[in-house]
Order: sequence, then structure tokens, then C-alpha cells
Amino acid sequence: MTQLSAHFTLSDFTDSDTASRNHINNTVPDHLYSNMQLTIGMLERIRAYLTSTAGRDVPVFLSSGYRCIALNNIVSKNPNSDHTKAFAADIKCPNFGSPFLVASTLAPKMDALGIGQIIYEFNSWVHVSVKKPLKDVNRIITINKSGTSVGIVN
Ligand SMILES: [Zn+2]
Repeated sequence: MTQLSAHFTLSDFTDSDTASRNHINNTVPDHLYSNMQLTIGMLERIRAYLTSTAGRDVPVFLSSGYRCIALNNIVSKNPNSDHTKAFAADIKCPNFGSPFLVASTLAPKMDALGIGQIIYEFNSWVHVSVKKPLKDVNRIITINKSGTSVGIVN
């Protein structure tokens, strides 16, 4: 088990049931390691902020971190997803609260925490990326069955 930081391992960032099922090798290539370290740094800041805000330990669980192109093609409609560059992770923090609460808590602090983009997705998880989207208006968005909206919307 390769530890990337105090609270995150390489497997946290790469493990994928979909990849296993489809015999896809989801190993982070060497040239993306620096991107991955930036993302892990962001996740540690998120963890520390949620922990201090809650006043109790708040583990951050990754439902998706790095996605090689083959894996991304299966799970995402966006071929240029930041996940393919090791810049993004989908997180859940049940010890803090719902994904809506997590997204709403992180959004006002995104610059301080070094978060480039937050997407509250399908009422189920929070996508965080170190990369800012091309348009500032897309930095905080919600994606669900009804489509895409600006801001964190339940
Ligand atoms: Zn995502």
C-alpha cells in the first residue's frame, strides 16, 4: 500500500470496481504523478477544513479518483474529464453530512482550499478538481437529471 499523504493511499485514488470488472489497468502514469500530488494536497486541505468545521474527525472517501481513458470512456460522457489528468476526485464525507452540505460548505472556501471547480453531482457526490474551468461561471455547478445549473442546488 503506497501512502500518498497522511490520509490517502494510491489505491484510494486508483481503485475502481468498473476497471476491475472490465480488466482495465488504471495505473497512474509517471507523467501524471505531479498532478496527482496536487489533487491529494487539495483533498488533505478539504479533510482538515471539514474536520475543523465539524469539530470531529471527517474522513474523505473517494468514489472515483484517477481514471485512465479506457475507464473514463465507460463511466463519463466527458472525454476531457479532469479525472483523466489526475486533477479530480469524487468525494463523500458521511461523517460531515450529505453531499449537498459538503458542497455548500466547501464552495465559499474554494480559493482558500485551492479548489478549482466543485460539481454537486446527482445529489450523490461532490466532484472537486484543482483545475479551474475555462469559464469562471462554471466553478461551482450542480449536475443532475434536470441538467446543469450554476451554484449548489438541491
Ligand atoms: Zn468527478
